[in-house]
Formats: sequence, C-alpha cells, structure tokens
Amino acid sequence: IAARRRITDMSTEHHVAHNYSPLPVTAATAEGVWITDVDGRRYLDCLGAYSAVNFGHRNPRIVAAATAQLGRVTLTSRAFMSDQLEPFCAALADLCGKDMVLPMNTGAEAVESAVKVARKWGYEVKGVPDGRARIIVAGGNFHGRTTTIVSFSDDDAARAGFGPYTPGFDRVPFGDIDSLAAAVTADTVAVLVEPIQGEAGIIVPPDDYLPRLRALCTDNNVLLIADEIQSGLGRTGRTFAVDHWDVAPDVFTLGKALGGGILPVSAVVADSDVLRVLTPGTHGSTFGGNPLAAAVGRTVVGMLADGTWQARAADLGEHLHSRLHALIGHGVYAVRGKGLWAGIDIDPALGTGKQFCLRLAARGVLAKDTHGSTLRLAPPLVITHEEIDLVADHFADALHRG
Ligand code: PLP
Repeated sequence: IAARRRITDMSTEHHVAHNYSPLPVTAATAEGVWITDVDGRRYLDCLGAYSAVNFGHRNPRIVAAATAQLGRVTLTSRAFMSDQLEPFCAALADLCGKDMVLPMNTGAEAVESAVKVARKWGYEVKGVPDGRARIIVAGGNFHGRTTTIVSFSDDDAARAGFGPYTPGFDRVPFGDIDSLAAAVTADTVAVLVEPIQGEAGIIVPPDDYLPRLRALCTDNNVLLIADEIQSGLGRTGRTFAVDHWDVAPDVFTLGKALGGGILPVSAVVADSDVLRVLTPGTHGSTFGGNPLAAAVGRTVVGMLADGTWQARAADLGEHLHSRLHALIGHGVYAVRGKGLWAGIDIDPALGTGKQFCLRLAARGVLAKDTHGSTLRLAPPLVITHEEIDLVADHFADALHRG
C-alpha cells in the first residue's frame, strides 16, 4: 500500500458554477485507467467519467479515428449530409437490433428526444387523444437534468426550485411490476426505465422484472424505453444491461461511452415504425450526428462488434465483485451490480460517501459517491486483474485505517 497523499477538500474553482462538489484532484493528463494530476501524482480512475470512458482514457483506436476525422470535416449540421452519419447510424442500429437512429449529443438530450418521440407516437400511431399522453417512470430514477427530466425525478436536490414542472409522468417503485401494471392506462404511451439504476446506487431489479415489464408493454401497446446511457455499451458484461434478461426494448437511449471518452455523442435507437414520427422540422440539433461524433461513435460500435470488451467486463467484473463481497461485514453493508459496475454501501459510521472517496483519493484511487454512504465503481474496462486487486486492497485499507 503506497504512502497516502495529502488531500484537502478545498475548492480552487472560483469561476466555475458550483453545481458539482469535485474531489480536490486536478487532472492534467490521462491514459488507460490512470489519471495524472498537475503535480505528477497518478490516480487509478474508478469512475470512468460516470461510465463515459469505458474504453480507457485516450483509447488509441478511438483517438486515431477522431484525429483522422479532424483532418477531414468536423461539422456540417444536418442541413447537409456527411459521409460519416449513415454508416454510424447503420452500425449502431445493427448493434441494437433496430433499424433507425436519431443522433443527439448528451444523455439528457437523448432522453428528452425519446420522451418527445413516445408522445408523438402515442398520438399518431396509438391514437391517444391529443395532450393526454402519459409516461411511466421508476422511483429513484436518474435520466438527466433538463426541466422535463427533473420534473419526474423524486430526488429533491435535483428537483426543488426548478418548477413549474412538466406534467404527464406517473412514478412507481422500481422493480415492482404489480405497481407498474396498476399504473398503466389507455393514455400510457411508454415506460421509461434504467434496466439497472445507476445514480440510485447500481440497483439491479428482481430477475422477473424486465421480462414481465416487456410482456406488459407488449400487451398494452406501450413503448418500453430502456435508458442504457450509463449501463450500456459493455459496462455490465453484456452489450446492454437488458441482454442479461434477454429483453428487447422498443427504444434505447444511449450516450456516455458512445462518445469514446472524447466528445458527447448520444442517440435514440428504435425501429422506423417509432422513429418515423419525426419528420423534417419536428426535432433537431445543430451538433447531433456531426461528422466527428459519427466517426467516433462508429468506431465505438465497431469495437463492441465481436464481444471482446463485453467478455472482459464480465470476467474482470466477477473478480471485482468477489473482492468487494469479501468486505461485507468489514465496514461494507452491501455490494450490488454487474460486470465492472458496482454500488457499495459503506457503514455510515465510517463517514459519508464523499469522505470515504477522499480517503480513497489519498491512496491514489478515484471513485465517487452516488448519495449518502453509497459509492459507485465504474472503472474503464481496460483495468487489469492486478489493478482491481490494488483498488480492493486500498478500499479495505481505507475501511480499516480511515
Ligand atoms: N440517463 C442515465 C441513466 C444517466 O446515468 C445519465 C447521466 O448520468 C443521463 C441519462 C444523463 O446524461 P448526460 O449527463 O450526458 O446528460
């Protein structure tokens, strides 16, 4: 166990809006799983930019694709076509088993876009009377930060002070299929759900939840929208978290790792009978689907094609989870998750999640609390067996020695 660094929780960011409470580690460079700070200290990154750096910092294949595209054309807007967009969308649609992609930028934008698509589909295809469409969401959800998305959050910190709120959403407890079934009405157009809840603390639902939800949506002509922005693209040991239960949603929202750790790239992916409700002028984004994003996104999709990354996340995830499970009863209450994604409940007597993250940072491990005393680990999938041991050793040491 290396000597501890002095970490003082004092912000030096005076001109940055205070909507985050970052650990006092100032990144200067990064490669693979490692971040080096401005003083040359190295940290093992166990957050992976909230799962956006699945393939490692500055992954050479993604950097090469981005660099090549920087030398060709980077931005056209959708007013013209680029030679990058159709191949990217074709590849991503194929990865999802769908036939159409709506390219956007951030995760919240993808979710907002899926909400709009579901409402329009409800009116134009399902026949819901205008203005009456409803979408069912789960308690503890996190889908982003826009006004509409925080409207259906039950996290007071995310919501309070931002009203008036967008109507049209019904919230039921996550993982409870009977409550969800009871909430479906003739006006329900979609169920929007994270297959495994991320910000809530990596909550895996009961095994029958998603298959029963799929059947319920089919029976009631309701779109199942899987928000795989954090859980998707290899993180859980499968391409998508829904794959663990062999469930095919009607709509995927994707983001984070789709941008290869380089730039924001998000998408709504569905079949054309859903996405064709969007016609010229009804939706758009200046940057959505730009050539640079499309080149990067296509590379990411290509990297996921043969299952190597998914298998790596599954294998190494087993090791991570077995090391973390050994800490239960030794300062850890519970460990959840799949693949290289873990939610860890620490004994609250040991301090808040943030305080524990400071202890880990002092040992050269960067992680982030989700809330309270729950930590999330989502290291880049390039992490090695030995590096997982290093993380687990430091974790145990931080539990025992403070
Ligand atoms: N959906 C899920 C499941 C997320 O975890 C997040 C971000 O954490 C988002 C949506 C929002 O993505 P973004 O921060 O890119 O807007």
